[in-house]
Amino acid sequence: MQTRLSAAFLETTAGREADGILRKCVHCGFCAATCPTYQLLGDELDGPRGRIYLIKEMLEGATPTQATQLHLDRCLTCRACETTCPSGVRYGRLLDIGRQHVERVVPRTLRERFLRYALLTVVPHRRRVGFLLALARLMRGLLPASLKQAVPLARPSGGWPPPRHRRRMVVLTGCAQPATAPGINAAAARVLDRLGISLIAVADGCCGALAHHMSAEDTSRRQMRRNIDAWWPEIERGAEAVVVTASGCGAMIRDYGTLLHHDSEYATRAARVSEMMRDISQVVVQELAGSNALPQRADAAARARRVAFHSPCTLQHGLKLRDLIEPLLQRAGYTLTSVADGHLCCGSAGSYSLLQPAIARQLKTNRLAALQADAPDLIATANIGCLLHLASGTGRPVRHWIELLAEGLMD
Ligand code: SF4
Ligand code: SF4
Repeated sequence: MQTRLSAAFLETTAGREADGILRKCVHCGFCAATCPTYQLLGDELDGPRGRIYLIKEMLEGATPTQATQLHLDRCLTCRACETTCPSGVRYGRLLDIGRQHVERVVPRTLRERFLRYALLTVVPHRRRVGFLLALARLMRGLLPASLKQAVPLARPSGGWPPPRHRRRMVVLTGCAQPATAPGINAAAARVLDRLGISLIAVADGCCGALAHHMSAEDTSRRQMRRNIDAWWPEIERGAEAVVVTASGCGAMIRDYGTLLHHDSEYATRAARVSEMMRDISQVVVQELAGSNALPQRADAAARARRVAFHSPCTLQHGLKLRDLIEPLLQRAGYTLTSVADGHLCCGSAGSYSLLQPAIARQLKTNRLAALQADAPDLIATANIGCLLHLASGTGRPVRHWIELLAEGLMD
């Protein structure tokens, strides 16, 4: 694609980066075939190619409007289009740059500003999420059925083994996850303990993704720097990896190096943290290569459980990790059911389910229909956002796969 970006943009690093990305696009439109919002809304401007044009026009000098903002807001950042694109267009990064520009130029309505402020003030803080969740659980009986299902039930988290191994890895504790599903990281710690690795949790806090995707860059950078500061002493003591059990956070941490590239104080450490980031599935697969360290349970009850696996977009399109988890579940004794259109987003997409509820609801309905078509006993996934979003639309249990793996192990 030919570009004529305005001189003002070409003077900036982001402008030059956007120019390079835009020039790779050959307008073929292949990406539209796998774009969930294009499939749902049928408008070229709600597909990747249309959004790329909007961003190009803006960076060439056109003034963005509220319509531009809406089309960019409606993007899930699922990056299915990146997986499909034959030219390697880094759409996700281009969208970040486009959104940041729109955010500076197009004012938001009072309602939007309030909602965004509320999200940024509550979600990244475990204690605030925990408080609201406790309140919602207390009032659960009074809520209408649709809202009742959205309140996750409390489940025992299971034990976290003491740090007894020479090999250590540090884990992102996260924000919403420890408040809503504390059993996930504990299950990861038990599995790694069986593999001879101690998992160390040093501080809780958001990875920065929520703020980043809402173009609140200062907040996002503050959260990234705080995490690096919290993990660094463990890294210096020899921690082998920064383990993440929510693929959405993993995709964000993998970009710390790029996002803090111009921060003279943090750039080197951010790049090191990005290199060390491992989704929990990568660690388990690597540690199990050629070993029999995780024998499956012998009882037939575990083997009989049928699981539908939902691969989050951040796992398959963001981190490009595919076909790692399904064999692990089978190895632990579960039977996988077939799921159509496994590349499609469930509609959770960070804050998307709250900011674009109608589209998110429709995508959830579609995804649940595909996941439940083969009558599984439960649904497994690899990201807390997808887990909570899907669970709010079904009576079937929705769990993180590492919890199932921990339960499938022989005691
Ligand atoms: S990131 Fe997802 S929703 Fe956005 S344009 Fe690409 S495929 Fe469509
Ligand atoms: S598939 Fe890639 S090259 Fe083709 S229109 Fe989409 S982004 Fe551009």
